[in-house]
Amino acid sequence: MSRSCVVVGSGVAGLGAAFRLANAGIRVTVLEAEPTFGGRTQTEIVNDCIVNTGAAFVTSFYDATLALLKELRIEPVRPEAQSGVVATPFGKLPLDLSSPRRIVQFPLVSLTGKLRALTLFAQSFLRRPVHIGKPASLARMDRGATIESWGRRALGETAYQYLLRTGVEPFFYFGAEEASAALGKALVRHARRWHMLALEGGMGSLCDTLGERLEIRTGCKASSVERGEQSVTVYHSGGKIEADHAILAMPAPAIARLQGDIDDEDRKQIEAVRYVPNLLLYFGYERPITVQHPLVTPAGPGRHAIARIRTISEWMPSYVPEGKELVSVHAASWRSAELIETEPEHAINQLRRDAETIFGRLADPDWIRLYPRRDAAVLPEPGHYRRMKAFVRRPRKRLLYAGDWLTGSTVEGALRTGLEAAESILAQ
Ligand SMILES: Cc1cc2nc3c(=O)[nH]c(=O)nc-3n(C[C@H](O)[C@H](O)[C@H](O)COP(=O)(O)OP(=O)(O)OC[C@H]3O[C@@H](n4cnc5c(N)ncnc54)[C@H](O)[C@@H]3O)c2cc1C
Repeated sequence: MSRSCVVVGSGVAGLGAAFRLANAGIRVTVLEAEPTFGGRTQTEIVNDCIVNTGAAFVTSFYDATLALLKELRIEPVRPEAQSGVVATPFGKLPLDLSSPRRIVQFPLVSLTGKLRALTLFAQSFLRRPVHIGKPASLARMDRGATIESWGRRALGETAYQYLLRTGVEPFFYFGAEEASAALGKALVRHARRWHMLALEGGMGSLCDTLGERLEIRTGCKASSVERGEQSVTVYHSGGKIEADHAILAMPAPAIARLQGDIDDEDRKQIEAVRYVPNLLLYFGYERPITVQHPLVTPAGPGRHAIARIRTISEWMPSYVPEGKELVSVHAASWRSAELIETEPEHAINQLRRDAETIFGRLADPDWIRLYPRRDAAVLPEPGHYRRMKAFVRRPRKRLLYAGDWLTGSTVEGALRTGLEAAESILAQ
């Protein structure tokens, strides 16, 4: 059995792989380019508020994640149910996609559209599940359609615009017109057993707890990988490290920038993976504020600049000390792409204006945090999951891959790829 492994990237995928290998007695070193570990699953404490800088929740169908949390003795909790409203051209209207009654009551969709949507949900009980964290499962549904073309056909125009798009874009930030229908179908099939779960210490406590048990070298940016007969060597900004195996657990664009022994076919497929950017903005208040609706999502035809706005004290009261407030604003990917290279002050002003058009006036904050990410979420274009299924199955010597690009951007998807890479090393 192999005795050593270097894992490049300390997100959920890399740390999950490293944890599994270390538990099996393998000597593991994790290299991380940034000064902190956790990648897109990190939490900061700002003025005593718990601020998730990337992922904020897991869901009831993240089975690998829930099993790992249990092993780490981290108990996920159910956030408070927020009465969400969608901001439509006709005003703000209550809509709860998990409640058939609220769907039927929603006025802007014809009765036929609602019945078609409810039939789609009902059919999902009878059909084989599609796991959102497994490329092979998603590949079965990936037949070249986008969520938009499939949704319009299945539900009709308005039900697609208000019911399906509203369920996808606020969570993935990209346009449903570009993403594979497989993702939409998987979400519909998960809908019946979906609820949100959060961690009391913030989502970053998952990576923090894994990190306590692992050797992680931060500030070590990998630049090249060399494969020999007996070992693999990773060159990084702090030197080089040799091991029996290497797992590259970085976003696809970062892997594509590595020099060295990456097979041509792999490199071509890795280079073709597209990510979309996201600007995440927090407004912090050292005083209580009044908001009319604590969760607002834009809905209906047209492009929306903002994906969603959430008042955190209402959602996870333990994240915000008594008498303070925290409001999160996620920009849509196209708006993030427009603003990500501009001065932070400009981006913040523009996003505040965008947010106020759907949320109503935001009180002047006492502090602001902006978290820009160029590679925030994988855009799974039609065919993506089929390509990734083939990619995962290709045999390779000493070099393995993990990361959310193989599955689509969820904590569950990222973790599964890491665990699978670890298992395949252990099986050798
Ligand atoms: C704003 C936002 C909100 C999200 N919300 C949710 C949510 O609520 N629920 C959910 O399930 N998912 C959510 N996601 C998606 C989820 O966070 C990601 O899919 C997941 O964290 C990705 O994990 P990963 O390990 O694949 O990659 P990452 O977390 O990106 O980890 C990769 C690591 O590799 C490092 N790296 C890159 N290049 C190098 C190099 N050359 N050398 C060494 N290290 C390198 C990076 O610095 C990084 O730490 C969200 C994402 C974002 C951006």
